[in-house]
Amino acid sequence: MDVTHDMNGQKKWMQLPRNVVIGNGVINEVRDVCTDLKLIDNALVVTGKSTKGIAGEIVQDSLQDVGQNVELVISESASMKEVERIRKHAIESGTKYFLGVGSGKTIDVAKLAATELEVPFISVPTAASHDGIVSSRASIKDGKTTTSIQANAPMAVIADTEIIANAPYRLLAAGCGDIISNCTAVLDWQLASRLQNVPFSEYAAALASMTAQILMDSADSIKPELESSVRMVVKALVSSGVAMSIAGSSRPASGSEHMFSHALDRIADEPALHGEQCGVGTILMMYLHGGDWKRISDALKLIGAPTTAKELGIEDKYILEALVLSHTIRPERYTILGTGLTPDAAEIVARKTKVIS
Ligand SMILES: [Zn+2]
Repeated sequence: MDVTHDMNGQKKWMQLPRNVVIGNGVINEVRDVCTDLKLIDNALVVTGKSTKGIAGEIVQDSLQDVGQNVELVISESASMKEVERIRKHAIESGTKYFLGVGSGKTIDVAKLAATELEVPFISVPTAASHDGIVSSRASIKDGKTTTSIQANAPMAVIADTEIIANAPYRLLAAGCGDIISNCTAVLDWQLASRLQNVPFSEYAAALASMTAQILMDSADSIKPELESSVRMVVKALVSSGVAMSIAGSSRPASGSEHMFSHALDRIADEPALHGEQCGVGTILMMYLHGGDWKRISDALKLIGAPTTAKELGIEDKYILEALVLSHTIRPERYTILGTGLTPDAAEIVARKTKVIS
C-alpha cells in the first residue's frame, strides 16, 4: 500500500511533543514536566503583558520553588525584531530552555528564539486561538507581511483548561476556525498531489480531516467559559499539530483558506484574528471545491465564529481583493485557486456563500 509518497525509501524525521498535559490546574504541573524532561535549571519564561499575572508568574514561582534559576521577559509583538531581542536576552542570561507562557504570539516568539539557539521549548498556552500552540510552525510579522517559519516543535504542551476557559471566548472560537480549515487544506493537498505529484501522506490527511469533522459534529457543545469546550478544542489543535508533524509540512492544516487569510492580513486596515479569517476562507474555498460549504458555515455559526465580512469587521471590498490576490501569497503551494480568480468570479463566490451581501 502506498501510504506516503514522501517516504519511498527516504529518511523521515517526525518531531512530536513528548508530553501533552491538558486539564484543570495543570499549570501547577509545569515543574514536574520540566523535571521529567531533565530541564532543571536556567529557564527563560517568555510571557505577555496581560498573561504575566495570569500564568507567567505562576510558572516562574513554581520553578523557583524547586531551586531553578528563572528569568521572565515580556514579549510585546510577534516580530523578527522581538525574536532577536529575546534571543539576545537568553544568551546573556545563559538560558538552557524556554517556556512560552501566553497567547499564540508569545508562544511563536519563544518557539522561534528557542529554535535559533537550539534549546528546548515548552508551550504553555493561555488561549487556544490557533494551532501554533502545538505545531512546529511560527507566524512572525516582518513589516506588513506575516510569514510562517519552520521551527522546532515544543518538547511539551501544558494547557490549563481553567486558564484558557477564562480567556476571551472570541479566541477559542477563532481556534475552531483554524481547525475547521483542515477541511479545505486537505482537499487542496489532494488536488496538488494529483496534479503535481507533491508528497502526500494518507495518515496525516486522514488525521487532519477527521479532527475537523469531529469538531464540527460537536459544534453545538462548544460554548463560552466551559472547560469541556476548551478540552475539545485543545485536543483538536494537538491532533492538527501531530498531522503536520507526520506530514513534515503545514499542508494538512493550511491551504487556500490560509492564503486568503494571509492576503487579508496584507490589505485590510484592521485584519481580524487568524482563525476567524481562516474560518471564513474555508467557507469560500469549500464553495470553489464544489463541496458542502453550508456545513462549514453552519458549524462556525453554532460555535459563534464569524461567517461574514461584517462579522469579521472587514469591508466587502477587501474580501474581494483578498480573493483575487490569494493565489499569489504562496505561489509554490498549488491549491484550488490555481492561477487565480477574476474579480467577477470573486464576487460570485463571496455573494453565493453570503460572506458579503
Ligand atoms: Zn492556521
